[in-house]
Amino acid sequence: MKKVAVIGAGTMGNGIAHVFAQSGFTVSLIDVSQQQLDKAVATIGKNFDRQVAKGSITEEAKAAALKNITTFTTLEEGVREAELVVEAATENVDLKLSIFQQMDAHAPQGCILATNTSSISITKIAAVTSRPELVIGMHFMNPVPVMKLVEIINGYATSAAVTTTIVELSKQLGKVPCVVNDYPGFIANRILMPMINEAIYSLFEGVAGVEEIDTVMKLGMAHPMGPLQLADFIGLDVCLSILHVLHDGFGNPKYAPCPLLVNMVMAKKLGVKTGEGFYTYTPGSKDLVVSAGFRK
Ligand code: NAD
Repeated sequence: MKKVAVIGAGTMGNGIAHVFAQSGFTVSLIDVSQQQLDKAVATIGKNFDRQVAKGSITEEAKAAALKNITTFTTLEEGVREAELVVEAATENVDLKLSIFQQMDAHAPQGCILATNTSSISITKIAAVTSRPELVIGMHFMNPVPVMKLVEIINGYATSAAVTTTIVELSKQLGKVPCVVNDYPGFIANRILMPMINEAIYSLFEGVAGVEEIDTVMKLGMAHPMGPLQLADFIGLDVCLSILHVLHDGFGNPKYAPCPLLVNMVMAKKLGVKTGEGFYTYTPGSKDLVVSAGFRK
């Protein structure tokens, strides 16, 4: 496999394009917004500069990797020659179903269609295509160039050969693949989101403050970041929507989102991206300033 298309040039799409380009694949990076594409290429350049400064790649390797990336604003053109398409567009089920129908219509026969979705059913996405056996979840972690894990999700109809191909490909990218089955939240978010929700409940019920909760989990459990700070990084709206997927998918009240999370999302306190969540952040940066306090 040599030719890959990545759909969506946001946080994840630029990272996915980065790792494929660095491993010698030609990458068509597709987004509906030219501005997002320009921003993504600039981000990829900066991230490569950081790798050069650290000595993990050479200037020549950086230049070669950047040359591997071409940008497109139309899906038809971008996927035309792809052997694999990785979809990393906005987490919205109707949008993903529509993109997969277009991918199916325009990608070559035999091209594998993967999605980086955090929570949407692979089986549901596969069912709108004419090739469900070639549809698979390829869930990279943020930041993609740094994080080793790729959670590979088998849909109900995914063929064993496709799983093997994506496992081998992930290794080729220097990642560690883990294969799981398609149930709500897969593994990563099925375990992570209830932990984050419980941390929010602990705050909501007044068991402890923001910093105390995060400190207990950082120092007590050796987590690099506390659950409330991690929620701010992921985006509180994203956490809420994944909890809805778990709650609806399993029909179990243990996944019900904490009312404080619901309120914060309604108040648009979404974490790093809006400058305030459980902590406040310097505008335009991820620097944590102070814990923001909260209202019940
Ligand atoms: P993002 O909002 O940063 O980027 C989404 C991009 O998709 C935007 O650039 C947008 O213009 C583009 N887009 C929207 N509609 C499109 C279309 N029809 N065709 C092409 N591009 C389109 O989102 P993100 O955080 O990069 O998330 C992307 C996917 O990755 C989601 O499915 C998300 O659940 C998943 N994911 C996110 C994270 C994370 O930490 N952010 C981690 C793992 C997985």
